[in-house]
Amino acid sequence: MSADAPSSAITAPELAERLLLQLFALQDDWDNFLFLFASDEKNVRAMNAVRGGFFARMQRLMFIDVLLGVSRLTDDATVAGKATASLPQLLALTGWQATNRAQWSRFNDGLKAVLLSCKPCRDHRNASLAHSSLHVQTLAPATRKMVEDAIGAIDKFLEEIRLEFGRGPVHRTIEMDEAEQLLEHLLNRRSQKDPSLVGLIVYENGSREAEMQCGFCGERVSFPYYPDSVPSPQSVARMHFAGCDGVVGFEKVKLVAVERDDAVPPRVFILDLSASQND
Ligand SMILES: [Zn+2]
Repeated sequence: MSADAPSSAITAPELAERLLLQLFALQDDWDNFLFLFASDEKNVRAMNAVRGGFFARMQRLMFIDVLLGVSRLTDDATVAGKATASLPQLLALTGWQATNRAQWSRFNDGLKAVLLSCKPCRDHRNASLAHSSLHVQTLAPATRKMVEDAIGAIDKFLEEIRLEFGRGPVHRTIEMDEAEQLLEHLLNRRSQKDPSLVGLIVYENGSREAEMQCGFCGERVSFPYYPDSVPSPQSVARMHFAGCDGVVGFEKVKLVAVERDDAVPPRVFILDLSASQND
């Protein structure tokens, strides 16, 4: 039996409170999803620069989880003979079908409207998660509106039925601190605060052993220097910047190569680190 399934002893008002908490968790997940992946281009660039593949998988998983949350809340009252923690189960538990037909009818219509609003999410969930299905279904693309309509409809239904139980609206505290802190951390780099920073490559004429004094993190690292070629973003990322605390990984960094005794005029390279993501 699923941990979410109501025990036979649970009352309708108790189940309503439990479903409200599930809805809040779902809304938190959705807010976080939007914050990370659909609010600010800079967030997406930072995640791409740091571990793009990982964050792309997280994006997919978070979206599927939101679809699952919508689907669970709107499952049939019983699935495989077991009671579910769902809106249809909530309405069944009220007993109104026997005791108050008018009220039952009103909420049953409301429930039908919720199920209609949630159908695109449920269809999408079924198509993307049902491994047994061999059919390739044509689906409307997963859209932001599809999820927002579903969450809005569930929210409205729960609020109305809770009112019948004598419970007023509950204001949810938005929980996005961790996602915000994560992005703040990723973007809190010296390169983002001081545009004048450079990496200084100091070499000796005739030698390929050079040292780079990284203005972004302050480290000094050995850094091969080839006077006749231009370093590539991939090579400088490999040599230092992929692990440099001072850069996010999507910026253009300026490197200045100077000969120790000024025997050769300085050379300046501007390298786009975001290009190093593609190797
Ligand atoms: Zn550095």
